[in-house]
Amino acid sequence: MFIRHVDSHLRVRDQEICRSCVLRPCVNVCPAGVYSYCEDGGLSVAYENCLECGSCKIVCEFDNIDWSYPAGGFGVDYMWG
Ligand code: SF4
Ligand code: SF4
Repeated sequence: MFIRHVDSHLRVRDQEICRSCVLRPCVNVCPAGVYSYCEDGGLSVAYENCLECGSCKIVCEFDNIDWSYPAGGFGVDYMWG
């Protein structure tokens, strides 16, 4: 379960960089399907699905994902802690 904060903890710094990114490893590596293509070629971010694994930040060779943990009390909430 993800306790949704009104502000996304994941932000794409520059959509133009995503439009020219051929491999888009963030789309393939994310286990939660957070990233997907937009019709305009940009990247959409469904941050409320995020599992906070940090993989997307590591695989983006352009350092184009502004990644932070959700604010305290928000974000992924595991059943057994
Ligand atoms: Fe954009 Fe980085 Fe994802 Fe490429 S890997 S689509 S530059 S966020
Ligand atoms: Fe997906 Fe992990 Fe990045 Fe969250 S931190 S968006 S689960 S790859």
